[in-house]
Amino acid sequence: TQPVTETPDAPVGEPRNVIIIGSGPTGYTAAVYAARANLKPLVFEGSVTAGGALMNTTEVENFPGFRDGITGPALMDEMRAQAERFGAELVPDDVVSVELEGEIKVVRTATDTHTARAVILATGSGYRKLELPNEDALSGRGVSWCATCDGFFFREQHIAVVGGGDSAIEEATFLTRFGSKVSLIVRRDELRASKIMQERAFADPKLEIIWNSAVDSINGTDSLESVTLVDTVTGDKRDLDATGLFIAIGHDPRSELVKGQVDLDDNGYVTVTHPGTATNLPGVFAAGDLVDHVYRQAITAAGTGCAAALDAERFLSELD
Ligand code: FAD
Repeated sequence: TQPVTETPDAPVGEPRNVIIIGSGPTGYTAAVYAARANLKPLVFEGSVTAGGALMNTTEVENFPGFRDGITGPALMDEMRAQAERFGAELVPDDVVSVELEGEIKVVRTATDTHTARAVILATGSGYRKLELPNEDALSGRGVSWCATCDGFFFREQHIAVVGGGDSAIEEATFLTRFGSKVSLIVRRDELRASKIMQERAFADPKLEIIWNSAVDSINGTDSLESVTLVDTVTGDKRDLDATGLFIAIGHDPRSELVKGQVDLDDNGYVTVTHPGTATNLPGVFAAGDLVDHVYRQAITAAGTGCAAALDAERFLSELD
């Protein structure tokens, strides 16, 4: 371990080869590759949610290599241990500021300053929540943010989807493959989604749209039993007997840390030179859900985390 400095501004030790910020499938996969390339990566995992988004879920059935499925926390534990096995140094701390423009990148936590010749950004994105009681407690037990991930668990069940944009309709129409019925709960009397998506929704016999409605409460003890809806015009309440609730009201990339230094798109996602992971700044790479608002899967995050480590390795070998 590195000595702790007394002043946060004095860098700890010599510049590292690579610092990885984030500890989901992206960060840990980048760490495995960078460690096996002998780059001795330093990984900031975050103080609260080390392991990333999958720490909040139960079964993961679509990550290749686990034919019987694996729980999200167990999968992340495996990835973490694999990174550690090859010598990645993992720190359960938040990065609070960065200076990425110079040749030597500066990465600060609340107590220390670290430097590196390359940085991999893997801070992911956060799904927007309804902020209702029970939402977190029933996550993975009927409440979900990802139809691709969890739709299969709700075969022949009544599924509710919240949201009125393109992604809500995409989730809802996808879920009609599994559910006996899908109810799309829309706050207003119209959809924000594009015309083509709306037509698709209206034409789907398994999809009902419940207009002018919002979720008032998420009900259940061990798993979701029903959802109480409130009419946004009359205030009337009623119960919907759905056993699956998919929340599709958007997601926000965690790019605040690098805003103003690294180029972002209009929605705040880091832009990279596809199919690579290079950002606008030499030596700074980004991958996973921080970049990707299309696929948002553990395996795609892991795949791009691998690519970021390989890109960083090539960048460093060209410097040497
Ligand atoms: P994340 O997993 O979000 O990890 C980012 C990490 O960076 C976090 O640990 C965070 O704490 C850390 N971080 C952020 N800021 C800082 C900072 N300043 N300093 C230090 N650390 C920081 N995908 C599937 O393929 N299959 C599934 O079954 C599946 N189920 C899901 C269930 C749920 C409930 C959710 C929310 C998502 C699910 N997903 C699933 C999607 C999958 O989890 C994500 O696509 C994937 O985790 C993205 O990986 P990531 O590493 O890019 O980001």
